[in-house]
Amino acid sequence: PIKTAGIDSPPDTMPKLRARLLANENPLGIAPSAKEALTKAADIGNRYAWTEFAELKGMIATDEGVKPNNIMMSPGSSDILMAAATHFAKGGGTILTSAMTYDDLLERAQKQGAKIVALPMTKEYKFDLAAIKAKLTPDVKLVYLVNPNNPTGTILPASELEAFCREVAPKVPVFLDEAYIDFYEPAERPKLGKLVAEGHNVILARTFSKIHGFAGLRLGYAIATPETLKMLKPYTNGEFAVSITTLMAGIASYQDKDWQNHCRAENAKARDYTAKALTGLGYEVIPSSANFMLFPIRMKTKSFSEQMFASGIGIQTRDFNGQPYCRVSIGTMDEMAMFIDGFKKVVG
Ligand code: PLP
Repeated sequence: PIKTAGIDSPPDTMPKLRARLLANENPLGIAPSAKEALTKAADIGNRYAWTEFAELKGMIATDEGVKPNNIMMSPGSSDILMAAATHFAKGGGTILTSAMTYDDLLERAQKQGAKIVALPMTKEYKFDLAAIKAKLTPDVKLVYLVNPNNPTGTILPASELEAFCREVAPKVPVFLDEAYIDFYEPAERPKLGKLVAEGHNVILARTFSKIHGFAGLRLGYAIATPETLKMLKPYTNGEFAVSITTLMAGIASYQDKDWQNHCRAENAKARDYTAKALTGLGYEVIPSSANFMLFPIRMKTKSFSEQMFASGIGIQTRDFNGQPYCRVSIGTMDEMAMFIDGFKKVVG
């Protein structure tokens, strides 16, 4: 097992929940504009998507400072993660990352013969970039970073991340999982598309599952050099795995900056409220820049989780270095009030 304390698999059955705070979903749903586009696209559900891919890639390329051939669409970013895992695990070698982080790519790569080296995080629960640099031995095939990181919610400053990629990518490809990047304030967001445009071996994985609320609709993409995309492609399900309905909704949502700003602001408000309430109860919350937060608890994870679920509040837990943690996704203000109330009752 990889010691990164990653995501649990989804349960086969889910109790009826009052507050579903376990999968980092968007509690506000999809944008009304996306819903309208989705419904309209049902009329062309009999047609394969062709030009629609180019339309969305064109918009993304303009924003990211890359060319459309630097972008590959996918049904959620998981498909990109899995393809990279399979490609980079070929023939063995090491994938370098920090513990704790998102496990999907790492577990797949490990099953396919790669060795996973997960270095300790900094004491602020951030990726330790200096430690990673010091471990770049010749057998390292890939560096995997998640920013903002899941489950810690921590971010790396844009300038540090860019400097790291400039130094490391000429030696080893850097995979940057940016599933939660939209929760950064736009002005502070790392803009690493320019590294790809310059030809650096950096792979950015993005998803519509989070701020756009497309977790069920499934849409994501990779930004990388055309050569890297060509290597990954045979291990993906292909762009046709994205439905025309999802694609049309994605085009609408991508342009709906008001909805994205609204979701980001609501998330920040509910996150601040939750962090303050937990701090008030004497808990130390890891500062989060995403739509979830992690904090150490003083109960065994199994008992905590069972009692929270029994009270209708779905959360996740982690055991890491002997310390139990709760990871709670940020829901609406009402849901977070329910969470705090349920939490107080469970922890006594
Ligand atoms: N990467 C990270 C860090 C995640 O937390 C998730 C999902 O929660 C994913 C990737 C995959 O999401 P999706 O396949 O919905 O894009």
